[in-house]
Amino acid sequence: MPELPEVETTVRGLERVLIGRRVARIEARRPDLRRALPVDLGQRLTGSRITELGRRAKYGLIGTDRGDTLVFHLGMSGHWRVDPSEIGRHDHFIVDTDEGRRVALNDARRFGSLDLVRTDQLAEWPPFVALGPEPFDITPEELGARLGGRSAPIKLLLLDQRIIAGLGNIYVCEALYRAGIHPNRKGGSISPERLRRLVPAIRDVLAEAIAAGGSTLRDFASPDGELGYFSKSFAVYDREGKPCACGGTVSRIVQGGRSTFYCPRCQR
Ligand SMILES: [Zn+2]
Repeated sequence: MPELPEVETTVRGLERVLIGRRVARIEARRPDLRRALPVDLGQRLTGSRITELGRRAKYGLIGTDRGDTLVFHLGMSGHWRVDPSEIGRHDHFIVDTDEGRRVALNDARRFGSLDLVRTDQLAEWPPFVALGPEPFDITPEELGARLGGRSAPIKLLLLDQRIIAGLGNIYVCEALYRAGIHPNRKGGSISPERLRRLVPAIRDVLAEAIAAGGSTLRDFASPDGELGYFSKSFAVYDREGKPCACGGTVSRIVQGGRSTFYCPRCQR
């Protein structure tokens, strides 16, 4: 399942193909993904120039000179293909540029989404209204204020997109490990000193994954490049029973119906 680093890597890969280009043609090959595609996609995108690519939480943003932003979410299995040599049945949305390049959104499970939002209204777009700050923007003091008085486990609060946007299971496990914080600790009980370790830990695990993804981008010069998925190694995630660097053993507990991996020796 794509997390923030995969989305960021995808956006950077798309940027190389799309930035500054005019949309020569689009093709929506089915009327919906998780929800219906905008019916006026072709009318609003064809002929526009792509001026901006970005990301908010786990959404990718493709902005045009007509004041529209195409907002995509990769769902469970979505990815963009660059210059595919042929179009397959899971390629649901295609963009051709004036340079003769092509990108195709492929999503076998169709949990992803495509929306067209006026760029100046993005902040008020319903899925964005309640989102918390980006991990790269939030300060330890702001995170502390958002966790204040909360008795739920820190693991679950960091997954709450209203508190901090864009974090998923993998990077929350890894960040808590690096910060030495037990995943069951009450969110409101974390000291300012530990928050000053946690926020950089969140940034570091994400930035390292984005850098790892970025290093794979050179491969997309070849035909059929697939953006956004790359192998990563983790300290605790999916390592139940395996050794921690401290000599202890990685444990797994279930919180909110999902697995949490942590080291009982390193995390208090
Ligand atoms: Zn350990």
